[in-house]
Amino acid sequence: MIRGILDSLAHEVAVIDEAGKVLAVNERWLRFGRENGVAPGANSAGVDYLGAIRPAAAAGDPVASAVLEGLLALLAGKRRDFTLEYPCQTPDRMLWFVMHAARTDWRPGAVVISHTDITERVEAEQRLLEATEKLREADTRKDEFIATLAHELRNPLTPIKNAAYLLRRQLPDFDKKERSVALLSMVDRQTTHLLHLVDDLLDLSRISCGKIGLKRETVDLREILRHSVEVAQRNIEMGAHKLEVSLPETPMSVYGDPVRLAQVFANLLDNAAKYTQHGGAIRLSAEPRGAEAVVLVSDNGLGIPADMLPRIFDLFTQVDRKIARPRGGGLGIGLALVKRLLELHGGTIEAHSEGPGKGSSFIVRLPAVARGGAETAQGSAPHELRTTLRVLVIEDNRDVAESLQMLLETAGAMVRAAYDGATGLDMLTSFNPDIVLLDLDLPGMDGYETARLIRASPQGRGVKLVALTGWGPEQAFERVRAAGFDRLITKPASLRALQQLFDEA
Ligand code: ADP
Repeated sequence: MIRGILDSLAHEVAVIDEAGKVLAVNERWLRFGRENGVAPGANSAGVDYLGAIRPAAAAGDPVASAVLEGLLALLAGKRRDFTLEYPCQTPDRMLWFVMHAARTDWRPGAVVISHTDITERVEAEQRLLEATEKLREADTRKDEFIATLAHELRNPLTPIKNAAYLLRRQLPDFDKKERSVALLSMVDRQTTHLLHLVDDLLDLSRISCGKIGLKRETVDLREILRHSVEVAQRNIEMGAHKLEVSLPETPMSVYGDPVRLAQVFANLLDNAAKYTQHGGAIRLSAEPRGAEAVVLVSDNGLGIPADMLPRIFDLFTQVDRKIARPRGGGLGIGLALVKRLLELHGGTIEAHSEGPGKGSSFIVRLPAVARGGAETAQGSAPHELRTTLRVLVIEDNRDVAESLQMLLETAGAMVRAAYDGATGLDMLTSFNPDIVLLDLDLPGMDGYETARLIRASPQGRGVKLVALTGWGPEQAFERVRAAGFDRLITKPASLRALQQLFDEA
């Protein structure tokens, strides 16, 4: 009778008595033994089940040991049941089972053992794990690729931008033709656009690697908004849009990174200008609401379809990739960056739109700082660079070095350029500079080593030592400082960063 019941079960089942001898096994148990040349234990009535396991357990087989220990505990009445997942090597392949053993009331002291084949599930889990691992690797490779791509794209832009700047300044002396002015302005505009794209890519990879560092301070949000208007002004004017700005009369203090926050609002204003037909209306307003500072950026432009609204802040999302954008397209990164930068500030952003053609509005909320004490945010970028300091540039990329040299000379500085660390050290002695701009990625003796030697030399002790890096501010500043540097500047050095440096020196 018991055999009949056991045969109806969809598992390999055996019942053993209080002494560990097999009382009954079902048909599946026997079949498994026949087909695979192995049986999960002894296979016919009267066999000493425990005895069959003992040699393997004594030889240190972990599965046999665990089974023996579990069954002994059950037979001694110390446990009611136990479960164990284990692999079973057959001549063809590796199978996986889950073994469950439990005391039964059917006969005092007896134990029912069942084995269930879970090979399919385990193999599916393994495949999933492998696929996940591959995806993770691909994702990491993608992040690394983006970082490298951005880095490589940024390098040639530095000399181009410097050259365009210099040529435009010199233009009245050698060429007054309108056409040249227009061409140079075009070079400048396009490089600026390219720089923005590359900067977005760089920021993106910094954020996905958790490497973005915020320089937070208490700032008046109104200053930041005014600055972001200046940044976006050009695109707003090019679209002939009317911008209405409404800011409160009293300061709105927030604790944030002024540069990053200005980037957030400039991005929203840029989008409003980009996605609104010529001659549109854009509004920027801000007001304190309870413990929050609330900023609204709205436009009467293309609007956003309802089904896109929930996805608009996802990476690489664009409502219509084919849309013509007179001032250059984007990569669908801007809003994702905006959202993540705001989150880093403890803030939020929402997008609203009544639908296509009905305009869009973006509402930003930032935690407000309770009371005054707001320092003003950084002013706008200086248009002119002025200095009479002596500057030594050590940079292996000749185009970068030479264009930087010309830029600084135009500003009034005395400049020498060296293309490797050793020559730089020689020049330090002969030239006696006030400031050394030193690339970190020099071939051979790198920037760190060169910096240590500069600091060790008599002329180098008092000099202002500035590290130039193409990798952005995530470069470990501790290491840079330990090598003797005073400052770290990301290439291309902006006019603002250079002027700040000269003002401090
Ligand atoms: P990008 O502008 O580079 O495409 P963003 O992340 O800044 O990337 O924006 C994503 C998409 O959201 C845009 O492609 C556009 O379709 C839509 N969008 C953003 N801002 C607006 C706006 N003010 N009005 C209409 N659509 C917008």
